[in-house]
Amino acid sequence: MNPLEQALKILDEGGVVGMPTETVYGLAARIDREAGLKAIFATKQRPFFDPLIVHVASIAQARTLTTGWSPLTEALAQAFWPGPLTMVLPKTPAVSSLITSGLTTVGLRCPSHPVARQLIEDAGQPLAAPSANLFGRTSPTTAEHVKREFDGKVFVLEGGPSSVGIESTIVSVSDQGDLRLLRPGSITREEITRVLQNQQTSFRWIEQIEKIEKIMAPGQMKHHYMPQRPLILTRGPMRDGDLLQRIRSRLEDLPEEVEGVRLLKPQKVERVSWIALPNDPVLAARQLYQALREAGESSADVLALVWPLERREGAWLAVWDRLRKAASLDLEH
Ligand code: AMP
Ligand code: MG
Repeated sequence: MNPLEQALKILDEGGVVGMPTETVYGLAARIDREAGLKAIFATKQRPFFDPLIVHVASIAQARTLTTGWSPLTEALAQAFWPGPLTMVLPKTPAVSSLITSGLTTVGLRCPSHPVARQLIEDAGQPLAAPSANLFGRTSPTTAEHVKREFDGKVFVLEGGPSSVGIESTIVSVSDQGDLRLLRPGSITREEITRVLQNQQTSFRWIEQIEKIEKIMAPGQMKHHYMPQRPLILTRGPMRDGDLLQRIRSRLEDLPEEVEGVRLLKPQKVERVSWIALPNDPVLAARQLYQALREAGESSADVLALVWPLERREGAWLAVWDRLRKAASLDLEH
């Protein structure tokens, strides 16, 4: 059996497989195999209130899963699929509430990675897949990351390093043409706006307020993507000694957990490993998780990254969103 056949067999038998996609590696199960869906949550130690994204091979397949396909969703799919855009739409009964955490909506995405596409097509069924990491931890961008995350217990299809490197942009689309950005990604709000305006498709952005955000995107925990060691952000360069002292003075303020996710705290604060990322947001996204993993494997007590204020919006928004959630502490200068 070749690796693809092996993966298909595992999926058919109600198991999970590591699936390469252009965003990050996913932990996939067929949506018509309840055992597989349950195995996703068990393997990741993911709480059932965090819904899964369903991956499809085509627009036609997506349409079987939602009652909300409209000219607006069609325009978005035509522009950005296959690719790193997830649309949250009203679900049909074909989508189990295990996938949606009991919500009436489902997140749909058509990935562009050739291995993912082949897998979904040959399975003949959409595949539900969250990122293939333990709940709350750094997402994997290589097959090796997934194997190590689950101690070699998960079969992983090899697909090379993920080219985008961070999770998809998630947009909810209502029947009335309201768009909400639930998670920033490599496809920016500005890009979506430009495409829709060019096509003269009518829509409007609804601003998120924290409370609505929680109901609409239950999985968007404040702390997420955490590396092996506590990550500290600073707004400008600092000497090691100054940084360590600042961290020590803030340790007592750090909560044990935030929204059920245990916050990483340094055991001692003596050695720091500085992380550097490229000065380009696309390249920084591609390298982010690999850099966090590598630094996490060092013997330092804390990881630190200089992240200036101007990198907290615009084209940097998606990377900033992950860093903010991955960090245990953000020092204010
Ligand atoms: P992951 O693939 O691990 O990044 O997780 C998928 C994320 O997609 C979840 O944490 C949710 O934030 C989001 N998501 C999936 N389905 C829905 C939905 N129906 N409504 C809102 N957000 C969703
Ligand atoms: Mg995830």
